[in-house]
Amino acid sequence: MRTPDTFDAGIIGAGPAGIAAAVQLARHGVRAVVFERGPTGGLLRTAWRVENFPGFPGGISGPALAALLDEQFLASGAELVHEEVSSLDREEEFLAVRTVGGDVRCNAVIVASGTRPRDVTDPDIPPEARDRVFREVDELRGVRGAHVAVIGGGDAAFDYAMSLSEENDVTVLVRGSSTRCLPILATRVRSRKRVTVRMLTRITTVAKGTGGRLRLASVSGGGDGESTSADIDADYLVLAVGREPDDGFVSEKLRRDALALERRGELLFAGDVVNGIFRQASIAAGQGTHAAMKVAAMLRERVGAGVAREETRVAGSREESR
Ligand SMILES: Cc1cc2nc3c(=O)[nH]c(=O)nc-3n(C[C@H](O)[C@H](O)[C@H](O)COP(=O)(O)OP(=O)(O)OC[C@H]3O[C@@H](n4cnc5c(N)ncnc54)[C@H](O)[C@@H]3O)c2cc1C
Repeated sequence: MRTPDTFDAGIIGAGPAGIAAAVQLARHGVRAVVFERGPTGGLLRTAWRVENFPGFPGGISGPALAALLDEQFLASGAELVHEEVSSLDREEEFLAVRTVGGDVRCNAVIVASGTRPRDVTDPDIPPEARDRVFREVDELRGVRGAHVAVIGGGDAAFDYAMSLSEENDVTVLVRGSSTRCLPILATRVRSRKRVTVRMLTRITTVAKGTGGRLRLASVSGGGDGESTSADIDADYLVLAVGREPDDGFVSEKLRRDALALERRGELLFAGDVVNGIFRQASIAAGQGTHAAMKVAAMLRERVGAGVAREETRVAGSREESR
């Protein structure tokens, strides 16, 4: 449902940043619509264990934390549109959010769309093998008794190895001579019986072998500069080789005007989409709250100045914050 087609605020993405923004806007009495193309909770759904989100002294599994955020989101009463945003642009004095369902006009928009897996061309994945190669680990949820190869040497690759090795054998293939992940994560992975970590290993080709399994041709370099080749058979391959901001739907014009729009509290970016290497759930949630407060302040000012549009309704108190 999304009637009418004009809202005080739009939020693109329902991960920790978008959910925190929705919850905060509700506290200010701002009517918000949230666009989410997948399940709510964002990347947290793929995290094995989150130990640095305040309030959970013993840590909490990613899916469990995502479920709690989802519960809080539902209670906020924000309207959820389960559609992908294809463009965000200026339309008269509004920002227009476009999905397959049509355009929704908003007085302000918070972009909380996170990141997407970086495109990789090395190794080349032939079309016939693509049904067994994944970029997000939650696509393998429910797989049991398989051998999963994971390419990558960062936090995501090692976190995926922890999740996947609960029910499968896992080989982590690291190109370099050292990992880039948190030492505590590397130690945990190495103590898991069902995980093998192969350093200095580069996958050169991926092919579909017998029985539909994947055959990964690898080259391993030794410390003395020599290299050996070997084939690795796996049921599935996960590429954990980096992520990039998922903001391709923002128009060029809005990008050019972004600074001025941000100052006015009309277009704000929150969470992983703008955080570079500082991608953490608590940072994203804090930025979502911050963005929502700026939007609420802008809307209050408009009402106070008597220039609010008919559709702009900022209900509730005028307290700055509680
Ligand atoms: C394996 C793994 C383990 C992690 N472990 C931890 C940890 O232990 N501690 C920690 O603090 N952080 C951890 N993180 C990072 C944490 O999950 C992110 O920092 C956090 O989820 C970012 O929140 P976000 O809301 O900015 O983005 P996201 O969580 O990425 O959410 C963005 C949402 O926007 C949606 N979206 C994107 N584009 C569109 C569009 N065009 N239309 C509609 N919807 C769209 C996406 O579907 C997604 O749901 C981990 C991440 C991974 C991958």
